[in-house]
Amino acid sequence: MPQWQPRRAQITQRMLPPEFSVNPLFSRKGEEAVPRFRMREQGMLPETAYQIVHDEIALDGNARLNLATFVTTWMEPSADLLYAKSVEKNMIDKDEYPQTAAIEERCVRILADLWHSPSPQNTIGVSTTGSSEACMLGGLALKRRWQNARKRQGKPIDRPNIVFSSAVQVVWEKFANYWDVEPRYVNITPDHPYLDPEGVLAVVDENTIGVVPVLGVTYTGLYEPVAAIARALDEFQSRTDLDIPIHVDAASGGFIAPFLQPDLVWDFQLTRVKSINVSGHKYGLVYPGLGWVIWREAEDLPEDLIFRVSYLGGNMPTFALNFSRPGAQVLLQYYNFLRLGKDGYYEVQKASQTVAQFLSKAIHDMGPFELFTDGSDIPVLSWRLKEGYTSNWNLYDLSRQLRTFGWQVPAYPLPPDMEDVTIMRVVVRNGFSMDLAHLFLMNFKQAVSFLDSLDGPIPHDTKYDNGYHH
Ligand SMILES: *Cc1c(COP(=O)(O)O)cnc(C)c1O
Repeated sequence: MPQWQPRRAQITQRMLPPEFSVNPLFSRKGEEAVPRFRMREQGMLPETAYQIVHDEIALDGNARLNLATFVTTWMEPSADLLYAKSVEKNMIDKDEYPQTAAIEERCVRILADLWHSPSPQNTIGVSTTGSSEACMLGGLALKRRWQNARKRQGKPIDRPNIVFSSAVQVVWEKFANYWDVEPRYVNITPDHPYLDPEGVLAVVDENTIGVVPVLGVTYTGLYEPVAAIARALDEFQSRTDLDIPIHVDAASGGFIAPFLQPDLVWDFQLTRVKSINVSGHKYGLVYPGLGWVIWREAEDLPEDLIFRVSYLGGNMPTFALNFSRPGAQVLLQYYNFLRLGKDGYYEVQKASQTVAQFLSKAIHDMGPFELFTDGSDIPVLSWRLKEGYTSNWNLYDLSRQLRTFGWQVPAYPLPPDMEDVTIMRVVVRNGFSMDLAHLFLMNFKQAVSFLDSLDGPIPHDTKYDNGYHH
């Protein structure tokens, strides 16, 4: 186990003086110095507090130049207006804000339909703060379903396990840890840089609560082969009688595949797929934090996990970790459904994919890099430095160099068994236009040519390499 260490931000905070001064233009008498780590006795004018926070966050990166995140950093002005007008809504107050609750319901129906649920009007689904909460709920449903089935058969329920690839998003490690489920990793390899069906068969057994393929692996953007995994589990069932469900983590792909790869079969068309999550705040094109989880049919969510909240004098079934949660993002999701329609979602995602493919070709053609993914699954491209190209610099140096232009592009090692490969990744989102892409490419070439001009290796503190969290 790694030893617990104070976070770097915490350490650097301690290097600062315990008080800071306030611009005399804003401060009143007595407000000239503000303690950094204690609450002040007296308050201050709203303008002064605003200015202090405003000035500090100027040190954050520019969200539009953040090519690391999958999460929406720009919405159009009408959406901003709707957001501003609905910030006060609490999603759990279904009785007080019945129309917001009704709109959440509608979004659930729309997603169930988009993903081919056999009964989109009757199945169950909920909005969440993001895919993380949605994955926890999906995983909990798998665990409870397995427990209930095992109890009926009089079998022990103390050793549940769950199967995913080593390239799974960290939330699944958390799920396994927090809910006492053994994680069984199928490691990625150069031949199978995704969850391999054969590898799945090698680790599943009677205690497997489910298998979780990812539609749009966070490291690379690849789709894991859901249909092939489902087929492997069908054959496994015919041999062993064990019926192992699939939850698809479609955090990013759930809003891409229906539009850009409509013929790809990955969703509820596969009967083994019992639940799917997506991040509304990724390619759903809504500001953070919004996620969704939808079950194939109402029966696929064990009844004993459902709570009822008061709703227009009646009862509304809910399944959530949070109680209070902002409701505005749900309204923004519905705004996008209305505003864009299927054609609009196609156009927006296609534009991102076009930018991703333009950039991947240009980066490939430069010479030093080998593409890992080119944006043909989700609009994400990733590449490595060609083996033996240089010993003077690496992708971490390139990442730091790009940062001097304001661009935030992470470099990181792949997970086991490919941890010796370092890659760099760009996530193309709505708002990263072809114009910005050209500007990025120019800076990218400048950064590489600067690094190429070095006479010797850049001094390294490898502690600061691979600091990116997925
Ligand atoms: C982003 C992501 C998550 C976590 O989702 P949040 O919406 O950030 O909570 C989980 N799984 C995958 C595959 C992701 O890409």
